[in-house]
Amino acid sequence: MSTEAIEAPDQESGDSSQTTPASSGRPPRVDIPETAKPPELQVTYALVIGLVHLAALMVVIPPMAGYLFSWSGLVLAVLGHFFYGMIGINVCYHRLLTHRGFKCPLWLEHSLAVLGICNLQDSPARWVAIHRMHHQHSDHQPDPHTPKAGFWWSHVGWVLYRNRDHDTTSHFERYVRDLLRDPFYLKLEARWRWFGIFASHALLYYLIGSAVGYYMTGTLAGAVQLGLSWFFWGVFVRVVVVLHGTWAVNSLTHVIGYRNYETRDDSRNHWLIAILTHGEGWHNNHHASPRAAMHGHRWWEYDMAWSVIRMMEIVGLATDVVRPGKTAEPADW
Ligand SMILES: [Zn+2]
Ligand SMILES: [Zn+2]
Repeated sequence: MSTEAIEAPDQESGDSSQTTPASSGRPPRVDIPETAKPPELQVTYALVIGLVHLAALMVVIPPMAGYLFSWSGLVLAVLGHFFYGMIGINVCYHRLLTHRGFKCPLWLEHSLAVLGICNLQDSPARWVAIHRMHHQHSDHQPDPHTPKAGFWWSHVGWVLYRNRDHDTTSHFERYVRDLLRDPFYLKLEARWRWFGIFASHALLYYLIGSAVGYYMTGTLAGAVQLGLSWFFWGVFVRVVVVLHGTWAVNSLTHVIGYRNYETRDDSRNHWLIAILTHGEGWHNNHHASPRAAMHGHRWWEYDMAWSVIRMMEIVGLATDVVRPGKTAEPADW
């Protein structure tokens, strides 16, 4: 199967200056956005992300590793990677909310968005705004996380350092006016409500784990041990793995892999990242056909998140599913 670059089927842009062919339109280096200068650490984000990583490391570093391990905790981490990561982030935050690659009943959309929140990747509206901005300016100024501004910046630097664009209400609203019209998403923005949902679900892991532990051992020590195991494996380990998967799509798939399409950016397809992110690693395909809910374009480019959307379509839960090359209407992202 040839992987020679072919013309993008529905290259879209809100900025005509950026629709130049990849060979002539991809700048060699892009600085971090002007609105992120001078670099100012977002202390709350840095603290939370640092603590979550520290907690995830405790499950592999003795002496706590042995105490925190349980087979059920490990299973919860793996299942959570699919349940929250694939469905919450890839299917909902990305393909449904950002690109409107399909439609589904509002009750289901909101439920899926709650799964997305449980990944500690910010509120739905904020995630969507930043990602739409990425598509509109990918690998050009002011792309919020292009690796052309440095690999570290594109992977996690852009999360840790303040970008005033993301804090300016007018700017933020320009990208997610559609979402903020829905009171559900608007309310999540206020008073860190979305973070409250994340914290509640984490606490629930501890409480249910403790109850199961007490039921199995009949001791308080057994209850605490299993509760903590579920808490650390089911929440922190899973969150860190999903975070790095999402970040790798922003960083690695704009650096390594092959290109099916000559897009205006440096997006690439990489099989390993596609496996680790349930299909998001076919990122060059995605930039070529942003609205398409299906990211694998060649027969061997397996896209698990697409399988989920296809199943939803078969049972009638997903409609108006956008396929590659069949963009329903023009869009900026
Ligand atoms: Zn990209
Ligand atoms: Zn996208």
